[in-house]
Amino acid sequence: MPSRRRWLVAVGAVVLLLLAGGAVALVVGLGPTGTHSQAADPPPPTTADPTTADPTTADPTTAAPTTTALPSPTGPPPFDRTQNSIDEANSIWVVVDKLRPLNPIDYAPADLVDVGNGHQMRAEAAAALHQMFADAAAQGLRLDVDSAYRSYVYQQNTFASGVARLGEAQALRGIAKPGYSEHQTGLAADIGGGGCEIDPCFATTPQGQWVAQNAYRYGFVIRYPDGAEGVTGYRYEPWHVRYVGVALATEMRTEGVPTLEQFFALPAAPSYAG
Ligand SMILES: [Zn+2]
Repeated sequence: MPSRRRWLVAVGAVVLLLLAGGAVALVVGLGPTGTHSQAADPPPPTTADPTTADPTTADPTTAAPTTTALPSPTGPPPFDRTQNSIDEANSIWVVVDKLRPLNPIDYAPADLVDVGNGHQMRAEAAAALHQMFADAAAQGLRLDVDSAYRSYVYQQNTFASGVARLGEAQALRGIAKPGYSEHQTGLAADIGGGGCEIDPCFATTPQGQWVAQNAYRYGFVIRYPDGAEGVTGYRYEPWHVRYVGVALATEMRTEGVPTLEQFFALPAAPSYAG
């Protein structure tokens, strides 16, 4: 029996050794594996770091354009919409429409000069019109002045005869009340050519198309554009040009804003108040 106990002890020792060896092997095995997995784990974190670093670097990337976008505002300064008055009658930016009569209502410019055909405009506008006509003529396009400055009294008579001829409702569509006409500013002109005078067909002539494309270079806008009657209160008048200066005319064209009312965020003026 002692031999059997000894055998059992031996077997037990072997089992213990095996267990211990297995444990060591496990520890050793886990060790390297753990070390490897730890060494392998960092890469995932390292690849996870870039992943999280990507958004982080994406933030700087998006922040970078923002900072590179900053210089552009410092480039061209924004257009100053307050550099001239839109209320004063003698301002080249004065906005006159069916809700904005001239002030005073019988305003008359002090610097009218001849522009041909017995018509007058303010000196600055007249010089610009003269240059525009000269440049058009140089391309074989003759332009005429059909109307320009109209006094308060003249407009009174025009409006009265229009009402008598067309009835008030129809007259109001095409003829301004005295004190509400751009022509009274001395900055507006009705121009023609190519066989069309004060008629929508002017838009289809080479002269009218040249004016539509180039008037802004001389400081003029087509004051009553097509489709803007609800804003300006007037049907399309391709012949009616209004001097506002090169800076504003160019800015309106650049921004694609067709009317003075929209550019200065003024109420639409489809009809007279009251
Ligand atoms: Zn006109």
